[in-house]
Amino acid sequence: MKLIFEKTKGGSKSYTIPTLDVMHKVEALPEKYLRKAKPALPELSEVDVVRHFTELASVNYHIDKGFYPLGSCTMKYNPKVGESIATFDGFRDIHPLQFMRTVQGALQIIYELERLLAEIGGMDTVSLQPAAGAHGELTGLLIARAYFDKKGERRHKILIPDSAHGTNPASSVIAGFEAIEVNSNAKGLVDTESLAKLMDADVAALMLTVPNTLGLFESEIEKISQIVHERGGLLYLDGANLNAFLGIVTPGDLGFDIVHFNLHKTFGTPHGAGGPGGGGIGVQKQLEPFLPVPRIIKKGEFFELTDEAPDSIGHIHIFYGNFGVIIKAYAYIRMLGAPGLKRVAENAVINANYLMNLLKEYYDLPYEGPCMHEFVISCERQKALGVRGLDVAKRLLDFELHPPTIYFPLIVREAFMIEPTETESKETLDEFFEAMKKIAEEVKRSPDIPKGAPYKTPVRRLDEVTAARSLDVSFYS
Ligand SMILES: *Cc1c(COP(=O)(O)O)cnc(C)c1O
Repeated sequence: MKLIFEKTKGGSKSYTIPTLDVMHKVEALPEKYLRKAKPALPELSEVDVVRHFTELASVNYHIDKGFYPLGSCTMKYNPKVGESIATFDGFRDIHPLQFMRTVQGALQIIYELERLLAEIGGMDTVSLQPAAGAHGELTGLLIARAYFDKKGERRHKILIPDSAHGTNPASSVIAGFEAIEVNSNAKGLVDTESLAKLMDADVAALMLTVPNTLGLFESEIEKISQIVHERGGLLYLDGANLNAFLGIVTPGDLGFDIVHFNLHKTFGTPHGAGGPGGGGIGVQKQLEPFLPVPRIIKKGEFFELTDEAPDSIGHIHIFYGNFGVIIKAYAYIRMLGAPGLKRVAENAVINANYLMNLLKEYYDLPYEGPCMHEFVISCERQKALGVRGLDVAKRLLDFELHPPTIYFPLIVREAFMIEPTETESKETLDEFFEAMKKIAEEVKRSPDIPKGAPYKTPVRRLDEVTAARSLDVSFYS
């Protein structure tokens, strides 16, 4: 494949516009700011531009094209009905600065989605403003800080298990806390003894991911909640993995005070390529005064946005979150209803267990199941034969499959973190398994094959070190 700059044909144009019949010299700009040479833009006809981008789109990999078992990310299929609803004129063509009486329907959807998520989360109140999970974490932690400030307590630490997603410590530090690591025990769960030692009057919250990034449910969650609450701390749920227990138990029942939802993971709104996302947060009653403004309220039959909240942490997003995402999540929840949401969780869990049980004959399983919606295998066995997890992942590309998350969580060597999601069929899972099995056999027979992979992709193996260190990838540099 060629770059569009390499396809340029001098003088080709996509559009011709009439010659100007007015004076076109730019008098306002001093001579020294005017270009001396034409910009080095590609010059192509319209059909060449269309073909270029159509070709690019066809080599791009995405969830509508194939299986995408990226652990932790929940790359599930998003029903198209959400897209069509989000593009109704009445949603697409409104402006956030319109008078509130002219956008009552839109406000009602935000209000109702907040109520639905409060019910799903077992929380008292929800705000849909944060634009992604990490943004929800930051918002939740700022709320925790404001809460303790108001109480006159100086708590400057956040406890985070060693299996956590990197955004957890990052958000803690940005919110002005110190991030302290809590060890996992041999079963891959929070070590409650270490937790009890660390949990003191300096700790504002424990940030927990349930199920954790190993796909394991914190079976001692009640004890954990007790340790944290007895010493005056808050329990924060990183809700990225909520598709594992939707409709079965609520985070509120488990003792959580704050939760962020990833609408783009759990509630069927697309993600990838950096957004847009939705990272709404839910809180229990005592934290409600600190939620970001504007808040959406209902007065009689009238919905309105208000900035009146003296203890609020303030604004965290322009207007009110990513509205398109809110519509899609609302449509998804209303379409499935309570029984449908429960089946999401059941199917996510059964799919992961099915695949895990097939794969464990060929790859190491560092933590015995049963797992929840995802699981972690290790390529240590393959590494002993000279083939790294990275090579196995690259080889999967030749089978036209997106590799799982690799080298995360950090506590597993040569980790492969696999989340099949609830939207995949048994046939797709079998196809993935067959590819993984073939690669495991190749590793034994002819390890040079996976080591040289991929062979069939438009670009072969990238120099990942240079790609990470030298971020300037512009064509002319
Ligand atoms: C995805 C994820 C996050 C971050 O969410 P974003 O929406 O990507 O910002 C945090 N924690 C876990 C466990 C995740 O999987």
